[in-house]
Amino acid sequence: MYRSHSCGELRASDIKKEVTLSGWVQKTRDKGFMIWVDLRDRYGITQLIFDEERTPAPVVKKAKTLGREFVIQVKGSVIERESKNQNIPTGEIEILVNELTILNESIVPPIIIEDQTDDGEDIRMKYRYLDIRRNPVKNSLIFRHQVGMQVRNYLSNEGFIEVETPYLIKSTPEGARDFIVPSRMNEGQFYALPQSPQTFKQLLMVGGMDKYFQIVKCFRDEDLRADRQPEFTQIDCEMAFVEQEDILNIFEGLTRYLLSEIKGVNIGDFPRMTYEEAMRTYGNDKPDIRFGMKFGELNDITQHKEFNVFNTAELVVGIAVPGGASYTRKEIDKLIDWVKRPQVGALGMVYVKCNEDGTYKSSVDKFYDQDDLAKWAEATGAKAGDLICVLSGSTNKVRAQLSALRMELAERLELRNPEEFAPLWVVDFPLLEWDEETERYHAMHHPFTSPKPEDIALLDTKPGDVRANAYDLVLNGNEIGGGSIRIHNKETQALMFNHLGFTPEEARAQFGFLMDAFQYGAPPHGGIAFGFDRLVAILGGQETIRDFIAFPKNNSGRDIMIDAPSNIDNEQLKELNIKLDL
Ligand code: ASP
Repeated sequence: MYRSHSCGELRASDIKKEVTLSGWVQKTRDKGFMIWVDLRDRYGITQLIFDEERTPAPVVKKAKTLGREFVIQVKGSVIERESKNQNIPTGEIEILVNELTILNESIVPPIIIEDQTDDGEDIRMKYRYLDIRRNPVKNSLIFRHQVGMQVRNYLSNEGFIEVETPYLIKSTPEGARDFIVPSRMNEGQFYALPQSPQTFKQLLMVGGMDKYFQIVKCFRDEDLRADRQPEFTQIDCEMAFVEQEDILNIFEGLTRYLLSEIKGVNIGDFPRMTYEEAMRTYGNDKPDIRFGMKFGELNDITQHKEFNVFNTAELVVGIAVPGGASYTRKEIDKLIDWVKRPQVGALGMVYVKCNEDGTYKSSVDKFYDQDDLAKWAEATGAKAGDLICVLSGSTNKVRAQLSALRMELAERLELRNPEEFAPLWVVDFPLLEWDEETERYHAMHHPFTSPKPEDIALLDTKPGDVRANAYDLVLNGNEIGGGSIRIHNKETQALMFNHLGFTPEEARAQFGFLMDAFQYGAPPHGGIAFGFDRLVAILGGQETIRDFIAFPKNNSGRDIMIDAPSNIDNEQLKELNIKLDL
């Protein structure tokens, strides 16, 4: 038996017990006649004492050879500790050791295994198994497990069945690029790893499973942005015989359940906002509504003077920054530089200080008088003491820029409290999205999303105006889930493929299996998928998902611990009939 107790278990009530513990040496303190060792495992730390007077001499001698991260087993008795440590649950006791076995030695670890570490991310990723020994990482993984359990609880109680779908599938365009796997047995042919189990979960509905979920890995070969992983986990769900309202209710329920079970916060009905409104008031389809700074559109009240920058702009829009009137000239210049960074891309920024005495001071005083500026203040909701920041230009760009500024300012003003939770449904997404690069429409969600019946007529005339039965769940400015009611008949699906620029042959080659299935009594259905990594991170009060993934990839999509991706040898290539032409 390696242990009778864990290192987090023993208390004052265990004093006088004979125990066996196993774990890692966190640290040793050698006072010559007395050696203390902190022994650590997943459950905690227990102090060991080796005492020249009470511990057999060979054991004391061996204890002197212990180094950090040695794995040891000790037998001894639980005694009361002289100087108690109130900070840890085992702080009232220590183990007077009389037997010590070194189970394994350790060379000096390259990172410091303590809660706080100065070690860089790269080195921690390379030695992730050591990083996992640190409480913050270990606790994040345990937390992830708990969230996963609660998800399974809730969905199972609601009658959902977890079904596994295949990882080796067919390459389909779903927005991102596929990861491709060559097939040895089918020369020249390839599988793709799923970007999501989308078509399979729809086929499960055709199969009559009624309510499906799966906590599942998905793979997308996208250009990596900060905090994206090429493989990530979704809570993937689908239901038959449902309308949008049913889906929103069930998954609002799931989110509410998680917030209450895990965070102890109880939230009433989630607010809803149309995509259109979200874009207009926050410049963003995943607005953080924990704070205000709503957009005020200023076209009508700015485009009547000689100020050409505004007169020629498609959109003039501003936000009120609470307390911003006190910013110095230098601080405002810095803010202007910030919006002009290439990552944001604004050409400039007009500002208005709303003075405490009710007057206004703007960077465009030459063009606008106090009455004009009072209207700007009204439109942006600015109060005395605030600063109005105004951007102008083409609608989409300006919205994105002002939204970036809004988030940045909220961060600086500490308005994004991680312990506050503000969920929001964004509904009525457009069905199609114009892509400048390919000069054609793409499905905004995916090609299986159903248009709103009342908008179908617009498909031929104004495709960009067609709304979909598609929805996102947003939490604190992050999209945590998204889904749609699906098309469930062959004709509508064919019409959709046609609008997406597929020839009937292409549609058949790629999605024939789905269209065939729709001919055998496909029920109306819809679903949603949550980004599990992100959800866990937000519930854990953090925004980086990497901390909640046991073995994450770095920003270039590499696993630097196992060194992947890597070359494969010629034999393997030959077997796969792949010739590299580098
Ligand atoms: N398959 C979609 C996604 O991965 C989610 C859904 O429509 O259910 O985003």
